[in-house]
Amino acid sequence: MKIDLHLHTSDRSPCSDISISELIAEAKRIGLDGFCMTEHQFIWPLEETEELARNEGIRIFRGNEITSAQGDVLVYGLEKDIKGVVPIKALQKEVVAAGAFSVLAHPFRGFKMFGIGELQMSVEQACKKKALQFVNAVEIANGKVRDKENEMAMKVAEALGLPGTAGSDAHNVDEVGLFVTIFERDIKNDADLVAELHAGRFSTGNAR
Ligand SMILES: [Zn+2]
Ligand SMILES: [Zn+2]
Repeated sequence: MKIDLHLHTSDRSPCSDISISELIAEAKRIGLDGFCMTEHQFIWPLEETEELARNEGIRIFRGNEITSAQGDVLVYGLEKDIKGVVPIKALQKEVVAAGAFSVLAHPFRGFKMFGIGELQMSVEQACKKKALQFVNAVEIANGKVRDKENEMAMKVAEALGLPGTAGSDAHNVDEVGLFVTIFERDIKNDADLVAELHAGRFSTGNAR
């Protein structure tokens, strides 16, 4: 099952240009089996996504992109809506307690800015990024960052033995499905999604 795990809509994230109806149409057009809403600190109400999914014939899941002091974290299966900036360690505590699943989003976005970037931060140095200790997985393919930044995330995930997920982080309609997570099993609801993430039965690819 091809699922885009990282998406924003203009309905709930002012930074996005895609409405939920445009998103659904595009996801169907490019052949996604489903997608997961990850607005910034907002979880779509289940009744709304269920109704849309039923009417449109596509699977819609619900996550949340939480701003931690150590970077953005995609969280799946955590119903609690966390506002403001939280320490990642405290966030992961909540994630674990809820049996949820966390992914460090675009972990090396703009890593040039930290000064070492272009001088070649080694994979070993990158692995020391503290936030990596407090997540279940790493986003190794994000549609909004440069190839080099995704490559670093991929190498770091491999070195640390962390699973890698993919999502477009689309804010425009032509970005939907740029990267997708491909699940081995059928996923019907949020609980299935979290279970399959924990089981690690997925790989990454693209749908465009
Ligand atoms: Zn982000
Ligand atoms: Zn995002």
